[in-house]
Amino acid sequence: MTQKTNDQEILAVSKIISIFTDGILFFDQSNKLVLMNKEAEKILNISKKDVIRKKIIELIGTPYLENIVGALLSGRKKRWEEEMEINEKIINVSFVKNNGTLIVLHDITKEKMVEQMKNEFVSIVAHQLRTPISSIKWTLKMFLEESFGRTTKEQKKYLKKIYTVNEKMVELINDLLNIAKIEEGRYVYKPVSTNLGRLIDSTIEQFKEKAEAKNIKISFNNLEKNAKVVVDPEKIKLVLQNLIDNAIKYNHEEGKVMIALKKEEDNLLVSVKDTGMGIPTNQQKRIFTKFFRAANVMKTDAEGSGLGLYINKELIEAHGGKIWFESVEKKGSSFYFSLPLQKNKNKIK
Ligand code: ADP
Repeated sequence: MTQKTNDQEILAVSKIISIFTDGILFFDQSNKLVLMNKEAEKILNISKKDVIRKKIIELIGTPYLENIVGALLSGRKKRWEEEMEINEKIINVSFVKNNGTLIVLHDITKEKMVEQMKNEFVSIVAHQLRTPISSIKWTLKMFLEESFGRTTKEQKKYLKKIYTVNEKMVELINDLLNIAKIEEGRYVYKPVSTNLGRLIDSTIEQFKEKAEAKNIKISFNNLEKNAKVVVDPEKIKLVLQNLIDNAIKYNHEEGKVMIALKKEEDNLLVSVKDTGMGIPTNQQKRIFTKFFRAANVMKTDAEGSGLGLYINKELIEAHGGKIWFESVEKKGSSFYFSLPLQKNKNKIK
C-alpha cells in the first residue's frame, strides 16, 4: 500500500470515528498514535495536535494518557479492559490488539453514580428494617415459648408460620447488609489459622434437620484433615452455608449432597455437589450476579433472593481464592471453591 492510500484511509476512518460518542484512539503496528477522535480529546483533556503521530514511549508523561499508555504497555492479552479515573470521571477503557491497538474510552460516570445511589438506598432501607424485624422475631419467640401465658395449638400453628416468614426477612436483610458492607469496602476480615475440614463438619451439622426433612443424605469426603487456611472463619462459614443450603433447596426428595475437601497444588479445594435440578446452560453466565435466580427455580416454591452466590464470590475472592461451578439441568450442580493453603502468612485484602 502506498503512503498516499494509507493517508486517505486514515482520513476516511477519522471522519467515521468523529461521529462516535465514545473516545477512540488507534496505535499502528509501530506503536504510533495515528487516530484520535474529538471525544477522546475531551475525555483526556488534551489536544490532538500535541499527541498525534507520536510513539507510545513519547506519550509517557502526558497527563491521563499516561495511565492508558501504562496499561497498554503492561497488558499482554489481545483484548482487555480496565476502569480508570480520568479527569474526575470514571472511564471504561478497552483495548483490542490486532495489527495495531484500538482503544475505546467509554464514560460510565453516570452509571456508577446511579449504582452507588442504588446501593446507598438498599443499605439505608436494610438498616431501617433490621430493628423492627428483630423485635418481631423476639416477641414471636416469647409467644411461642408461652412467656405471656398459654397459647392454643391453633394459635401456635399460625405463630410458627409468621415466625418462619419473619426469619426469611431477617435472612434477606442480613444478605443486603452484607452486600452493602462488601461494596462499601468495610467488611472487616479477621483472618486466623483455620482447619477447613472442621469448619465444614460444623456447617454440615447445622443442615442436618433441613436435609432430613427432604430425605437428603449429606456426605463429606475429607482428604485433608489437618490442612489449614488463613481465613475469616465466619465469612467462609457463610460461603459454605450458602452452598449447602442451595444444594438441599434445589435438590429432589431423597437426593444427595456430596462435599469433598482435597489439596490441589498450593490450594485447598472444596466441592459441593448435588443431584438436583441443575442450572439451565443459557443462564449459567449470570449465576454470580446480584439478584439473579434461574428460570427453573422460579417455577418451584424454593424461596431465595439471588444474593448468596454474589456474596460468596466477593468473599472467596477477597480471601485470594476462586469460586466456580459446573451444572447440567435436571442432573445436578457442582460448586467449587479454592483457598490458598496456609504457609507462613497469607495476605488478605
Ligand atoms: P438464592 O438461592 O437465594 O436464589 P443464590 O445466589 O444462592 O440465591 O443462587 C442464585 C441462583 O443460582 C439460584 O436462584 C438458582 O437459580 C441458582 N442455583 C444456585 N445453586 C444452585 C444449585 N445447587 N442447583 C441449582 N441451581 C442453583
